[in-house]
Amino acid sequence: MSHQPLRLPPGRDIRLSDFDPGFHGGLDRADAEQETRHHCDALDELAYRLYAEAKRAVVVVLQGIDTSGKDGAIRMLASGISPQCLDVRSFKAPSAVELAHDFLWRIHAAVPAHGRIGVFNRSHYEDVIVVRVRKLAPPHVWKARYDQINAFEKLLADGGLTFVKCFLHISRKEQRERLEDRLRDPRKQWKLGPDDLADRERWDDFQAAYDDALTKCNTEHAPWHIVPADRKWYRNLVVARLVRETLERLDPRFPPFDSTLLTRLT
Ligand code: AMP
Ligand code: MG
Repeated sequence: MSHQPLRLPPGRDIRLSDFDPGFHGGLDRADAEQETRHHCDALDELAYRLYAEAKRAVVVVLQGIDTSGKDGAIRMLASGISPQCLDVRSFKAPSAVELAHDFLWRIHAAVPAHGRIGVFNRSHYEDVIVVRVRKLAPPHVWKARYDQINAFEKLLADGGLTFVKCFLHISRKEQRERLEDRLRDPRKQWKLGPDDLADRERWDDFQAAYDDALTKCNTEHAPWHIVPADRKWYRNLVVARLVRETLERLDPRFPPFDSTLLTRLT
């Protein structure tokens, strides 16, 4: 396949089985890594301008099953963008306090302030994915959430937040290899728990839950991107490109300079 769309127009059915997780656009690893480094260099300057302007914010939402490369994508972004401009937030199973509020409460509190780039390692989408698959809430609760998520994202978009929603798409085979690697590597074993292996057994349920979430929450104001992620270097390239393109479109400007300051330096 020489071409695979990164996103579909809102309203179209998204079925992950139509997307090849191994797609790499005909690129090889060395070229992709070089291009990624260029994007990271450009991102540093763009993030600095966004920070100086302090009027708008960006949030990169990373979703994907275990081992899909969320941590790796964050490491790549952090290698380019100054920590001063970056807010990385990871969402685990909600605490008792979080569960005593609506599901978007903890998410809203983590939204980056104007001038900053947020990265969500998992997000409110877990509330229509893992909650559905592990039956942590009844269907009428999670089914109502697609509209709630769309309204929430619209509110944030109207307030100056730009979403870059990335689904990191890996194959079942690739996940097996990565899980096996984790099981054998003492530096990675800590990442694995029984839940991860139980989730793998529900592979098809997760894919179906993602098909629905990606389809129902693929809006003009916050579209989904399906990032082929079986190759880590291609995944990084696609995410870097998306974030760079987003910031270039925003074209953040330095605030106007008060030239009377020039005469005030004593
Ligand atoms: P990890 O990202 O591997 O550190 O694991 C975090 C775990 O928290 C995953 O198993 C997620 O599915 C789970 N998690 C995240 N958000 C929620 C949520 N809203 N409800 C239940 N589990 C969640
Ligand atoms: Mg995990």
